[in-house]
Amino acid sequence: MLKTFLTENNIPFLENESLKKHTTFKVGGNAAFVAMPEDKIQALQLLKFLKENGIKYYTIGRGSNVIFRDSGFDGVIIKTANMQQIEYIDETTVFAGAGVPMNLLCKSLQENSLEGLEFCYGIPGNVGGGLYMNAGAYGGEISNAVYQVEYIDENCEIKTIDVKDCDFSYRHSVFQGKDWLITGCIFKLVKGDKDKILSFMEDIMQRRIDKQPLDKPSAGSSFKRPVGYFAAALIEQCGLKGCSVGGAQVSEKHSGFIVNMGDATCADIVALAEHVEKVVFEKTGVAIEKEMIII
Ligand SMILES: Cc1cc2nc3c(=O)[nH]c(=O)nc-3n(C[C@H](O)[C@H](O)[C@H](O)COP(=O)(O)OP(=O)(O)OC[C@H]3O[C@@H](n4cnc5c(N)ncnc54)[C@H](O)[C@@H]3O)c2cc1C
Repeated sequence: MLKTFLTENNIPFLENESLKKHTTFKVGGNAAFVAMPEDKIQALQLLKFLKENGIKYYTIGRGSNVIFRDSGFDGVIIKTANMQQIEYIDETTVFAGAGVPMNLLCKSLQENSLEGLEFCYGIPGNVGGGLYMNAGAYGGEISNAVYQVEYIDENCEIKTIDVKDCDFSYRHSVFQGKDWLITGCIFKLVKGDKDKILSFMEDIMQRRIDKQPLDKPSAGSSFKRPVGYFAAALIEQCGLKGCSVGGAQVSEKHSGFIVNMGDATCADIVALAEHVEKVVFEKTGVAIEKEMIII
């Protein structure tokens, strides 16, 4: 029934698909289906069908902050990565679809001498995931440049929400815990100097290469920054650098990252993250919380 619906509506899909291929941590079991709508109309049709038929679903972008259990997902993963439209509305206003990779958007803005999101360069997720997480780096957050977000709500209606109502704060947004699918965002940027923006982007990319274990699968920083502290420094102080469970390891290069050494399972990663949280709390009294989302 689902397969017929996807085929008839030309929605690309994969069946009994390993979620290792759809997450940057490269762990997780299989999903019954991974459906990849190409625009908001297809996303809307799909959501209506899934709701009407009581089929379980979960939305992802690039899978760079989410991991799935080894038992897999008995439902449909809606992967929004195909929703890649970028449209310049006026000189400083840009619409980007939920599936636009942050790096692609940053490059496009730089080429158009637009400033306001360059600090996101190097974040390996898409616009939708970035908004959901309020992703940020080097002193900036994606919310800094948001004007309005477009989404499909729980009743399958296409809505927009202004930045002031998005409840953005550190790694938090109104989208968390809601049954909404983000379809795109209007960003407001400011005119800047093309060369200066480029050299800033190159500089932060180099800093990432120097400091982060980018050669190993991960979800970036595994823990949120506790108020007044840095998770990586606390982890290192507790002697946890290099600590491992199965194929998951606290990176030798950056203690804030848990990395997959090759054969990690989701269970290894979760067990290691929980061990780190426990030891850090026991030794320092500071509670650290996982940033990655476990489904
Ligand atoms: C090497 C590395 C470095 C990283 N560096 C940073 C960094 O500097 N700063 C930072 O903030 N993060 C960083 N991350 C984490 C990650 O890239 C960000 O959180 C990113 O914004 C997630 O985007 P995504 O598209 O991969 O979302 P996913 O991981 O696919 O999803 C994350 C959450 O968003 C939800 N979601 C995704 N798309 C939609 C949508 N269209 N509608 C509704 N909900 C949606 C998902 O349900 C999930 O709950 C890093 C990760 C890696 C692997």
